[in-house]
Amino acid sequence: LALVAAALVMYRRVLRRRAARVLNEQESMRARHHHVAATLTAYLVKREAVELREKLGAGNFGNVHLAYLRLPPDNSRSVAAKELHANAAPAEESEFLREACTIASFNHEHVVRLVGVCISGGPPLVLMELALFGDLLGYLRARRHLAEGAECASTESPVSVEEAAHVSGEALTRLVREAAAALTYLGSRGVVHRDVRAANCLVNARRSLKLADFGMARETAAGADGAPEYACRRRAMFPVLWMAPESLAHGVFSAASDVWAIGVLVLEVVTLGARPYGSMSPLRVLEYVAAGGCPPLPLDASPHTRGLTRLCWQREAERRPSAAEIHEYLAERPQALRAAVFEPPEAVDGKFVQ
Ligand code: ADP
Repeated sequence: LALVAAALVMYRRVLRRRAARVLNEQESMRARHHHVAATLTAYLVKREAVELREKLGAGNFGNVHLAYLRLPPDNSRSVAAKELHANAAPAEESEFLREACTIASFNHEHVVRLVGVCISGGPPLVLMELALFGDLLGYLRARRHLAEGAECASTESPVSVEEAAHVSGEALTRLVREAAAALTYLGSRGVVHRDVRAANCLVNARRSLKLADFGMARETAAGADGAPEYACRRRAMFPVLWMAPESLAHGVFSAASDVWAIGVLVLEVVTLGARPYGSMSPLRVLEYVAAGGCPPLPLDASPHTRGLTRLCWQREAERRPSAAEIHEYLAERPQALRAAVFEPPEAVDGKFVQ
């Protein structure tokens, strides 16, 4: 009997502890929700004001639609509406709205802008400024199809053959410069993006770049040497092919690791959307970069491309230029970064021929 009583006491204790933990989690979730709601108040729009139209793409949180936002008297306009998928967990919803809060706190011509948020009467909707040409990766690949003489494949693509043909190499250089401008701004706000790549940049009707996707962005804390950096201890999905050696080895992210990613973005631009490191698996990329490698360039990459990527891919983070310096470097050298061959070399026995 004594044993049963002891077991019961233990069991009750466990239950009480578990209940306390759940209450704590709920409390912190409520606090976060409150903060999110307060930040987004100025952006709240009624669901009836949003007319969802065709699907533009699919993301981690759900689908992105073209939408028409009716804001009387004369503020109506087309927007991109991100809809949280129907069976999202509360934590996912917080994450979704937290990203909207992050975007709401920015104000830069090359950072995508938040237009509105609907949080009642259905799954949350986040309305963003519309980027007519969609993400930069799709934009580059549409040009590549064109350059390879193929039909501009998808009828869903907003890029017509004529439109795509009018994008010059200089315009591509400008897109990289605009990404550097966006990162310079984020740096001034103490924010590390951590996921800079063509798929996370958007191209608007003026063919101007808008940095997007702040799901991985973090505010920095001063590192041991006073340099702002963000050490990531909780490993999730990481964009290995765009990551700097120190991020891969130690989970350390900083403005300098974002600059490494700009170098990989340059590679995506000059190859018109090829996968960095060819068909090498992420695991092999990890080993390859740990052994001192950096992404292979196309054999005929221009000296301009080689010069710029060499700067971004210096092994020691402190030796890399800042995003502001990259911006200045490109402002002084607006000529085309493009190469004529679209594929970086494939690895043979784990080695690239450079
Ligand atoms: P993810 O969650 O994978 O980062 P997103 O949800 O941000 O992706 O977007 C998914 C896709 O929707 C993008 O790849 C892009 O093609 C399209 N998209 C996202 N935002 C916009 C926008 N503001 N304007 C136009 N298209 C967009």
